[in-house]
Amino acid sequence: MAKIATDSQLTKVMREIYNQGIINLGCDAINCFLCAKGGRLKACERIKEAVILLPGENQIIKELNGAEFPSMNVNGFGIGFLAPEQDCPFNVDGWCGIHGKHPIDCRSFPLVPSVNERGDLIISISLKCPIIPPWDFVKLWVENWRKLWKVAPIEWFAFYSMVPTNPLKPIAMLKAEEKHD
Ligand code: SF4
Ligand code: SF4
Repeated sequence: MAKIATDSQLTKVMREIYNQGIINLGCDAINCFLCAKGGRLKACERIKEAVILLPGENQIIKELNGAEFPSMNVNGFGIGFLAPEQDCPFNVDGWCGIHGKHPIDCRSFPLVPSVNERGDLIISISLKCPIIPPWDFVKLWVENWRKLWKVAPIEWFAFYSMVPTNPLKPIAMLKAEEKHD
């Protein structure tokens, strides 16, 4: 029963985030518009990040876009997942074909969450992104990841933290004790 309650809380938070809209980072101004995957002819083509959906998020993606990400099983959770070298099914000639309805992992980039051995939540910025995100974006995504961390399984964050990524610089940390406040 607890698992069902947790899942529905997580889905509620995810839907709130999908409804927030997108803060314009200025990626298009520098012709760099395919998030962490990098576009074929775009300035960020060297960036090849994994895309990791939250438990249940692939269902939201399917509702919004009529198609979903390949999925894999992580500690009992079925999650949408693209490995760093794997192209995105929504890549349209180097551009995001579902921009505005794309995953939380993509819309949060270049801010990236992880957890340490204590379970503290660490928010970092990817050093490969050529943009310095505006303060409104940073504030929004630190808060979004704080909300998600409170309701999503810690095993998901542990898995997310283990997947290889480009160099990161930590910018915020929330103590594990806060997760259950
Ligand atoms: S977030 Fe960074 S890497 Fe992604 S499209 Fe924008 S500028 Fe490029
Ligand atoms: S959903 Fe869009 S932003 Fe995310 S990896 Fe695919 S093409 Fe890029």
